[in-house]
Amino acid sequence: MDYQAFFKNRLAELKDAGNYRVFIDLQRECGRFPRAAWTHPKGVGDVAVWCSNDYLGMGQHPKVIAAMHEAIDRCGAGAGGTRNISGTTHDHVLLEEELADLHGKEAALVFTSGYVSNWAALGTLASQVPGCIVFSDSLNHASMIEGIRHSRAEKVIWKHNDLEDLEAKLKAADPDRPKLIAFESVYSMDGDIAPIAAICDLADRYGAMTYLDEVHAVGMYGPRGGGIAEREGLMDRLTVIEGTLGKAFGVVGGYIAASAELCDFVRSFASGFIFTTALPPAIAAAATASIRHLKESSAEREAHQAIVAQVRRRLDTHGIPHVANPSHIIPVIVGNPAKCKFLSDTLLEQHGIYIQPINYPTVPKGTERLRITPSPVHDAADVDRLIGALHALWNQCQLARQIRVAA
Ligand code: PLP
Repeated sequence: MDYQAFFKNRLAELKDAGNYRVFIDLQRECGRFPRAAWTHPKGVGDVAVWCSNDYLGMGQHPKVIAAMHEAIDRCGAGAGGTRNISGTTHDHVLLEEELADLHGKEAALVFTSGYVSNWAALGTLASQVPGCIVFSDSLNHASMIEGIRHSRAEKVIWKHNDLEDLEAKLKAADPDRPKLIAFESVYSMDGDIAPIAAICDLADRYGAMTYLDEVHAVGMYGPRGGGIAEREGLMDRLTVIEGTLGKAFGVVGGYIAASAELCDFVRSFASGFIFTTALPPAIAAAATASIRHLKESSAEREAHQAIVAQVRRRLDTHGIPHVANPSHIIPVIVGNPAKCKFLSDTLLEQHGIYIQPINYPTVPKGTERLRITPSPVHDAADVDRLIGALHALWNQCQLARQIRVAA
């Protein structure tokens, strides 16, 4: 086989379909986020980032940075190996205590990313619990899908956020078999939120465990940043709460929070935990500082909600269509991959605004979009520039508006 020709042809197919991904060369500048330096063939430009998942700007928070510096000076760069071989650093112990407390659970277990935590925890639970059937929301994240697939457990997909469909599928299953319902709180591409209480009611009725991915909610919702389940007083009803340290907490890593037995079980059986080097202690220390800060301070959450509402209002004023949802994610549906990339390129090149196009397979074909994520560190001038640029672009490309612009 001509391997190079194979790679080249497959990439050419992606390019023809408009789905080839280009990652721009960005340098985040500490203290200036959302501004960043963009290196391109003609030089270096200054851009405003509007698509980051550092939702609250915690990646540059002085307490987080100080904790990371302090831990590097104290411990050095790396963890020294897997926890299985080299032991657990004290910073990981403190981080897991902080996470268990955040979610009101007995224990927590940290992984190298949110992706790995879903893959390893779901894969382990579903494969090890004998005869387990996994009921998976149809819009679950790739990391959950991969974990479930890897487990080889029987999987039943229920229609997204559809309680009737979930109940019908639970009812149809053998009542004696163990069951696990896997779902998310905030769905990252449409920004809609799961009916968590009602799903827990069904889980109780049909004897199922619940596994909730709060990756796009931790830090941002609830009085202490515990997520939607905290906001709704439901944390104790969930068997497992999974989250990331890489988005609102501004660092990197993932975790599950659950009973002491469940965490110990996953720690003991999950290859994705056992056979990979632990996060550096400095990452654990920085994440702990971020979580502690957001437990005590709601200022970031309030400012975040306020700017999200402001951007939505301004988009409405100009009739720029966006998906209505109850979260902080503002999807502007374009519906065509080439057009989506063109809009993104034009925003970047002509207006210094970076919004990465979201194309298949991240979202279904025909629903390609710009996904806008405002943060408390965007100021009024940033919002003015964003809205002005989108307005100009909508004129330039004669794109449909939802309402007429006031004369
Ligand atoms: N779960 C969901 C719903 C996600 O959107 C993502 C990443 O975007 C992950 C898990 C993976 O988290 P991480 O980025 O920490 O690997």
